[in-house]
Amino acid sequence: MATVTAATPPQDQTSLQDQAVQTPSQMAVVPLLGRSVEALTEWVTQQGQPAYRGKQLHQWIYQKGIRSLDEVTVFSKQWRAEVKETPIGRSHIQHRSESPDGTIKYLLRLKDGLIIEAVGIPSDKRLTVCVSSQIGCPMACDFCATGKGGFTRNLETYEIVDQVLTVQEDFQRRVSNIVFMGMGEPLLNTESVVAAVRSLNQDVGIGQRMITVSTVGIPGHIRRLAEERMQITLAVSLHASNQTLRRQLIPSAEKYPIDALLDECRDYVNLTGRRVSFEYVLLADVNDRPEHALELANDLRGFQTHVNLIPYNPISEVDYQRPSRQRIESFTQQLKDKGIAVSVRYSRGLEKDAACGQLRASKATESVQPKPAVV
Ligand code: SAH
Repeated sequence: MATVTAATPPQDQTSLQDQAVQTPSQMAVVPLLGRSVEALTEWVTQQGQPAYRGKQLHQWIYQKGIRSLDEVTVFSKQWRAEVKETPIGRSHIQHRSESPDGTIKYLLRLKDGLIIEAVGIPSDKRLTVCVSSQIGCPMACDFCATGKGGFTRNLETYEIVDQVLTVQEDFQRRVSNIVFMGMGEPLLNTESVVAAVRSLNQDVGIGQRMITVSTVGIPGHIRRLAEERMQITLAVSLHASNQTLRRQLIPSAEKYPIDALLDECRDYVNLTGRRVSFEYVLLADVNDRPEHALELANDLRGFQTHVNLIPYNPISEVDYQRPSRQRIESFTQQLKDKGIAVSVRYSRGLEKDAACGQLRASKATESVQPKPAVV
């Protein structure tokens, strides 16, 4: 497990001040975001309000995007004053950076002052949000910027749902798709991720089939996810065609042989009736040779699958190289020749902030520089 290096103290001190004035009992209140209409109805009735207020509250949280109960003008002034300290659970945009292709990366500041990354990726027909499930990541995959930054904590359900609402509001356009491909390993935070998927589906209105959870694979957790019988897409970060190579790139693969991972993926397909897709980061001269393509095709025999090839996005900590376009094309063609559906995913937003996790990594370095002491 990596050390805690990812925490970013806020530049301004507002969030620390917010915390300072909160009593322990207020800190313990679970925010309202992420709760269903039924749960909100239960909450309002516990507060002595009529049940229909639950539905109103649901609309104000998920459609109007309130940040405080004080904004709900259909509630009486008196009740608003009583409950206005109950947190909704919204973050603040600390930084946003837009690429020429329209992709916007956000650094969001959470209640405890920690920073996470979310990305909005627009196209003609879609607005996809790439969400984080953890602050940092303990998996330490060798080519991943987030992994190099260490792990701080899991995100709560409301902190995941918030990312989607924040991007939706900023774009002023409905989010159509969600990918759990931001910071973190979703299946180390399965309960919150499952609850967030359900809320995004039922409360925000995004179809389960439009939601992709990407995992490097944690023993037993793919089966655990399958038991939820959701219609989401599972994407598995395979990245290697054999166990020796995978162990080099992904430290956790040591305890999870590739065959066991693929067996668990088969169980997922059987239990959910959904296909699993595989991600494969292409690293020049490491895993992009013709024999790797053949081996990969062989591994995936019997799977009705889709392979997403991700040409490596360079990060500063390691010196892997992105393969040439020709090399990428021939790897793609070899898989196609073996009857495998394959696409190449060029990371958008690369021009400005580079690869996954890097926006936050670069900004974090800026903001964690200690200020010189005033003498
Ligand atoms: N923990 C999850 C989500 C990670 S981010 C998982 O491992 O699947 C989504 C994808 O981006 C993963 O497949 C991840 O391996 C890949 N990725 C991370 N760093 C990358 C880089 N520098 N270049 C290309 N892909 C990268």
